[in-house]
Amino acid sequence: MHEMSLAEGVLQLVEDTARREGARQVSRVIVEIGELSSVEPEALRFCFDVVTRHSVADGAVLEIIDVPGTAWCLPCGASVRINERYGACPQCGSHQVQPTGGTEMRVKEIEIA
Ligand SMILES: [Zn+2]
Repeated sequence: MHEMSLAEGVLQLVEDTARREGARQVSRVIVEIGELSSVEPEALRFCFDVVTRHSVADGAVLEIIDVPGTAWCLPCGASVRINERYGACPQCGSHQVQPTGGTEMRVKEIEIA
């Protein structure tokens, strides 16, 4: 389950931010999860709860924003929507598509109590 190391990465970022801001408690963490990032939101939520126990983010709300997957289709010469990493172009069925959006997970905002 790679979500555990992702959650630890998020916590690291949260702790660094809290330290920089002199905060003792973080109330909310907002992350964006791309549709093509192969991150399971529910698994991440579970891992986040586990790793943040007894940390500055203990009890913090994890808010997840889904980012749709987009790709550039070579034959069409257009940006198209795909919902899996190795998906085909919905317009021409080609697999010559290059993912351009929704491929990663990132921390968007950290709210300090
Ligand atoms: Zn196409």
